[in-house]
Amino acid sequence: MKKIQMVDLKGQYEGIKDVVNTSIQEVLETTSFINGPKVHQFQKNLEQYLGVKHVIPCANGTDALQIAMMGLGLKPGDEVITADFTFAATVEVIALLNLTPVLVDVNEDDFNISIEAIEKAITPKTKAIVPVHLFGQCANMEAIMELAKAHNLYVIEDNAQAIGANYTYKDGSKAKAGTIGHVASTSFFPSKNLGCYGDGGAIFTNDDDLAHTIRGIVNHGMYERYHHDVVGVNSRLDSIQAGVLDAKLPNLDTYNKARQNAARKYNKAFQGIDAIITPKVSNGCTDICDTCDCHVFHQYTLKIKGVDRDALVKHLNEKDIPCGVYYPIPLHNQKAYADERYNEADFTVTNLLVKEVISLPMHTELDDDQIDYITSTIINFING
Ligand SMILES: *Cc1c(COP(=O)(O)O)cnc(C)c1O
Repeated sequence: MKKIQMVDLKGQYEGIKDVVNTSIQEVLETTSFINGPKVHQFQKNLEQYLGVKHVIPCANGTDALQIAMMGLGLKPGDEVITADFTFAATVEVIALLNLTPVLVDVNEDDFNISIEAIEKAITPKTKAIVPVHLFGQCANMEAIMELAKAHNLYVIEDNAQAIGANYTYKDGSKAKAGTIGHVASTSFFPSKNLGCYGDGGAIFTNDDDLAHTIRGIVNHGMYERYHHDVVGVNSRLDSIQAGVLDAKLPNLDTYNKARQNAARKYNKAFQGIDAIITPKVSNGCTDICDTCDCHVFHQYTLKIKGVDRDALVKHLNEKDIPCGVYYPIPLHNQKAYADERYNEADFTVTNLLVKEVISLPMHTELDDDQIDYITSTIINFING
């Protein structure tokens, strides 16, 4: 059996070596390393894939979030609502811009931001909601867009973990994750579903004016060379990374299917084990279906009940099975983001999830032997 990895970038590279190498070589030949033709080519191809009017590439997913917020003209003191159970980047940029982060609880079944909690947190100062499409499936965007409309709020989708996922509306129509809110951000960090070989990110929007504003912000606030109309940043996707991404984009759906297949096998193996709760697929789907990419499994995350998680993690590591705890500490309890405004009673779900979740190896190269070994090791441990 091949050594099990949390993410197998090497195995994936072996399968696409020729096309990736050729694409990188093309960049080397043009020596157009910044804003070269590859960046434009990838931007156009991603716009087409997503069905969104504008993709603005940038340096990483954290910048993408920050630039989206700058583009919307959010001002110090504006309140921005986001999830308590996620990676810190989301709340970090809110704080960096001197906006007021308002962390709220998530759903116990699909780990995404709770609509009731958002509703409760809205005040006259609220200006935006940042749903994070956690672990590969969309938050309840229809309800979020309704709330936003009723309260005149912006919606910024943090789509770092769900690129390629579809969101299904109640009427059955579909839209790609990241094309529903006013603006969205994504990350091309190597381990993401569409990852480059370094750092990268992008902003998506269907709003022409906002896209124009953002194109200036990523380039020092310049709309005309050496005329700086707004305070901007320097945040670029370099051409070599764009070359890698453009070579990988045609495989994204196949990669997401491979993740779904691995998730299906995990689910099947854990069926009937009371201590293990397999990931819930939301948004109108009840299972991982063949027809819609409702969940693209950036992570495959279990909840374990009545099991010593630390002991399980230690056991898996001893058996050469990597695993991760995403996320071990609620954001409202992190030193940088703690605030006396927060009340523990408002975070009962996050406070529970941080103790129960465990994420298993999930990538495009997992084979049946590896999945059997992982699942049987876990089940044997639980059954003692
Ligand atoms: C990875 C990630 C980011 C940050 O992306 P970087 O490219 O590493 O800056 C932001 N939000 C979420 C939810 C992420 O998973």
